[in-house]
This record gives sequence, structure tokens and C-alpha cells, in this order.
Amino acid sequence: MTTKTKAFETKDALDLYKKIIYTEGKAGRRMDKKQIEEMIDLAIKQLGYSYAPYSHFHVGAALLAKNGTYYTGCNIENAAYTPTNCAERTAFFKAVSEGVKEFQAICVVGGRDGVLTGYAAPCGVCRQVMMEFCDPETFQIILAVSKDKYDVFTLRELFPLGFGPADLA
Ligand SMILES: [Zn+2]
Repeated sequence: MTTKTKAFETKDALDLYKKIIYTEGKAGRRMDKKQIEEMIDLAIKQLGYSYAPYSHFHVGAALLAKNGTYYTGCNIENAAYTPTNCAERTAFFKAVSEGVKEFQAICVVGGRDGVLTGYAAPCGVCRQVMMEFCDPETFQIILAVSKDKYDVFTLRELFPLGFGPADLA
């Protein structure tokens, strides 16, 4: 990675530059902006399938496997509460159940009644599932409100000191 001194005309340009440096430097491969937008679209579409009659908090996810395939998911609640499954795990389990276990990124969106007002960050259980299948240094988690407002994190940033398969090796 090379760093150059550059003048920025707007704060947005500076933020974009930081994001590019950030994704190249920390997460290895830079996510293409078009692909991020595609994932945000897919995740938002999943809000329509969310089954959340109890919390009314609708969540959608789009998981990108390293083979280029998308696996989508929504949250699925249950009257007994504990059988509830998050959108992220729905997407992961769909992929793993089809033999896919290598992943590049996930996009998550969510909000009350499906209205997006802020980031819906993965719960601890979902972060643990990500830790099972993903390299925490390179796996990217895109939290979005819209195609214009999103941030990209590595799993390591959202799950520092997480316990994973490498700890049992
Ligand atoms: Zn979760």
C-alpha cells in the first residue's frame, strides 16, 4: 500500500479515500464499491422476507462466498423466542448446508418495521459463527443504512480476541 499526500475538495472525498485505504490496508482486498452497493440492495430486499412478529425488528443479510455466490438471509422469529434465528446465521447456514465454507464479506441491514435508521450490527452469537468460518483479519462486514451510508469493518474489529478454530489447533 502506498500513501500519497493529496488535497481533498470535500469531506466526502476524504472519507471515501480513508475507506479505500482502510479496506486495502486492513482487509486485504478492497471491496469494489459496485459490489458493496449490490450487496446492500440484496440485503434490503431480504427485509421483505423477515419474519419478526414479536420484535418487529426486521433484518436482512447478503453473504458473499469466495466463489462469488451470494447467500441471503433474514431473521426468523419464534413464539418460543429461543429458536429465533438471525439473518446473518440464516445466510451462513444456507451456504454451509450447500457445502460452501469460504466467505469474503457480509452486508447486514435492519430496523424496526424494516425502516433503516441506523446500523444493525451482528449480535454476539452471529459474530461467533462468523469466527468459525471466516478469517477475522480479512472478512468484511458491511453495515448499511442505504447505498450512500455504510461502513466496512473487519470481523476482528467487531469481535476482538474472538475464540475460533485456530485456538483449538
Ligand atoms: Zn445474530
